[in-house]
Amino acid sequence: MDYRDIENQPIPLDEDFFHRLPKVDLHVHLDGSLRLATILELAQENRVELGAQTMECLRDLIAPGKVHRSLEEYLRGFDITLKVMQTDGALYRIAYELAQDAAAENIRYMEVRYSPILHTRNKLSLAAILESVLEGLRDAERDFGIRSGVIVCGIRDISPTVSLRLAELAVAFKNRGVVGFDLAGAEYNNPARDHLDAFTLILSNNVNVTIHAGEAYGPDSIHQAVHYCGAHRIGHGTRLREDGDLLNYINDHRIPLEVCLSSNVQTGTVEDLSRHPFRFYYDLGLRVTLNTDNRLITDTTMTREYMLAHAHFEFLPRDVLNVVMHGVKSAFMPHEYKRDFVIATKAEVKAMLVEQAKKAMVPDSAPLTRDSAVSKSPGSSASTREDGR
Ligand SMILES: [Zn+2]
Repeated sequence: MDYRDIENQPIPLDEDFFHRLPKVDLHVHLDGSLRLATILELAQENRVELGAQTMECLRDLIAPGKVHRSLEEYLRGFDITLKVMQTDGALYRIAYELAQDAAAENIRYMEVRYSPILHTRNKLSLAAILESVLEGLRDAERDFGIRSGVIVCGIRDISPTVSLRLAELAVAFKNRGVVGFDLAGAEYNNPARDHLDAFTLILSNNVNVTIHAGEAYGPDSIHQAVHYCGAHRIGHGTRLREDGDLLNYINDHRIPLEVCLSSNVQTGTVEDLSRHPFRFYYDLGLRVTLNTDNRLITDTTMTREYMLAHAHFEFLPRDVLNVVMHGVKSAFMPHEYKRDFVIATKAEVKAMLVEQAKKAMVPDSAPLTRDSAVSKSPGSSASTREDGR
C-alpha cells in the first residue's frame, strides 16, 4: 500500500496522530503564550502585583479560551502577561519555554511574534529585548531541535513613529534571527496605511511582511495590507470572503493566510467554527495554514487546532498533507533550507498517513471499531478512540 492508494480514503485520525504529525506554527504571539505557573513565579521574583496569588485566581483573571465579544476585549488578557515580561531574564525564559512546549508537540519550526516596545517599562533597550528572546529561542533549538524565527510587530494603535523605530530594529536584526515584520493590535479605526513609513523601510530592505488583517475589519484592511504595505502573508484574513475579486488575487499570488481557528471564535470574528471560511478557502485552492495565535490566552496547541479543523472540515489524508505543506511552504525561511524541509516533511507525513491507514485495516491492532474507521464525523472517531483507551 502506498500513499496514492489512501490519499482519498477517510481514515481515523486521532489526537495521538495529530500530536505526532510534524507541524509548523507561523502565527504565535510571545506575550499570549506563557505558562501560567511561569507568570506567577516571575511575579513573585520581580515583585509584580498581578491581583492574583494562586494559579486558580490567575486562571480566573486571564480566562484562557474565553469567548469575548470583540478583539479589543480579547486583547485585555495581555495587560496581565506584559506585567511580568519586563526583564531580560523573563523574556529569555518565556521564549525558551514556548519553544520547549512547541517542540513537545512536534512543531518543527515556529515564527514567534511580539512588539519589543511593549517591554520597555524597566528601560530595557529595544535591542536587549530582542536579543533576550533570540537567545531563548537559540538555546531551545540546541536543547529540543526546534527551529524558529522572530517577527517584530508594530502596533496599529500606537504611533506610526514607534512603528518606524521597530521597523529599523527589524532591519538591524535581519539575518540575525528576525524573519519578518507585522502590524498587530486593534484593527478597527487603525488602518495599516498610517504606518506606511515603517513598511517602506521594511520592503526597501527586503524584509518579509505579514499583517494582521480581515480579523476585526473587512476586506479593505486586507487590500491595504497587500497593496499599500506589501504583505507577503496575511494574519487571519477571515473576512476575505467578502471580496471575491481580492480573494482571487490573493489566491493567484499564493499569498498565505495564517488561520487561527480557536482565536477567531474567541475574538468574535466568527460566531462558531461551522461559519468559519477555512474549508471554503481551502477548496478554492487558497494557501491556508493553521496556527495557534496564543497558546495561553486562546488555551490551545497546534495539535488542538488540527483536531478542530479535522472535526469541523473532515480532512481526508490528502487534506492533512496539503495543510501541513501549506504551512511549511509559507515559512519565512531561506529557500535553500526550505527546499529540504519541504521534501523531508512531505515524505514523513505521507508515511504517517499510510501507517495510520494500515492500522485501521487490521481489526485487532488498535482499539478502533469498524464504524469509527469509516466515520463521516472525524470528531466522533477521535472521541471513540479516546474512550477505547
Ligand atoms: Zn495574532
